[in-house]
Amino acid sequence: MLPKDMLALGTKRSAIRELFEYGKIRKAQVGEDKVYDFSLGNPSIPAPKEVDEALSELLSTDNTVALHGYSSAQGDAIVRKTIAEYLNSVHGTSFNADNLYMTCGAAASLCISLRALLLPGEEVIAFAPFFPEYVVFVEGQGGKVAVVPPTASFQPDLEAFENAINENTKAVIINSPNNPSGVVYSEETIKAIAQILEKKSRELGREIFIIADEPYRELVYDADTTVPYITKYYKNTLVCYSYSKSLSLPGERIGYILVPDEVCDSKNVYACICGAGRALGYVCAPTLFQQVVAKCCGKTGDVSAYKKNRDLIYSELSALGYECVKPDGAFYLFVKALEDDANAFCERAKAHDLLIVSGDGFFCPGYVRISYCVDEKTIKNSIPAFRALAEEYAK
Ligand code: PLP
Repeated sequence: MLPKDMLALGTKRSAIRELFEYGKIRKAQVGEDKVYDFSLGNPSIPAPKEVDEALSELLSTDNTVALHGYSSAQGDAIVRKTIAEYLNSVHGTSFNADNLYMTCGAAASLCISLRALLLPGEEVIAFAPFFPEYVVFVEGQGGKVAVVPPTASFQPDLEAFENAINENTKAVIINSPNNPSGVVYSEETIKAIAQILEKKSRELGREIFIIADEPYRELVYDADTTVPYITKYYKNTLVCYSYSKSLSLPGERIGYILVPDEVCDSKNVYACICGAGRALGYVCAPTLFQQVVAKCCGKTGDVSAYKKNRDLIYSELSALGYECVKPDGAFYLFVKALEDDANAFCERAKAHDLLIVSGDGFFCPGYVRISYCVDEKTIKNSIPAFRALAEEYAK
């Protein structure tokens, strides 16, 4: 007998991966440039030059044995100190090396944090729309996801949030800038979430944590957009960070978990993080890339390329009559499907070789996600196909 849940996860790919694999086959049939693949959130800009410089510098030393070796389970102490000091310089916080635990990217940060916090059957709240893998991560760690439905603005529904909190609630995941809406949660929203959590924690006599999933923190496009640093608003906040998007390093698997001292019983929460990393078999984050990211604090790829793409695709699709949520950040455009059934809409888009993802998987029916982390050329060349698709519905 094999475990049914793992069998199901392993035999059925996510809708996003399914579409990406279809795109590869279709490109081989009709040519790369004839398929407009907006399926995956794979960065399209190169890592900044500082990454390559750091790699060259590190690999030119005599100590490559250590660079390819194990690090401490929680990550190299100097790397963690460097990152803590960088965070303090940006956010005015007072973190130190012992608040950080290096991980293999945001997915690992989330799974480890969830494993560290959850007792069997406890609930984790997520605001729709959200990254579909949250369900896999939460259920994989023995918890249940409680979904708060979306609002028209895609800022969280605070009343529904308050009503969703109960004696089983252990955490709420906040992902801003958001995948898939591109929305940044305002300071007002974060303050309100913090207030509700404080009130509910008191009423229920239990700690409720915010898990801030922040792989897109640096990907914001307008001078007046700020992404509130949630540890400053709510004490029981763990930050799950990843360099996958900011440094265009998703294949290198590197990120961290931040456990501030203000977190209730923080030393034991940190110990649970260490225990969870161990139980999940992570051993340590990639040693070489721990060193690289420490040398690249505050650097990003050329984010202006994403801004250009955002402006282009948002204005072109809006002009064609598509109802789009203007993204403040990340690299996704969330668009109202031209029929109620977003899956059917995506199938009709596919007939025009437009590969876009249904919002159903993001718990937001009626919408589709377009990942604009692609070549500008792909966006420009796709516009006639988007036009033809809209015309088909206008008939
Ligand atoms: N969280 C969100 C919201 C994401 O969009 C992604 C990846 O696309 C992840 C987590 C996982 O990121 P990583 O590649 O760093 O594991």
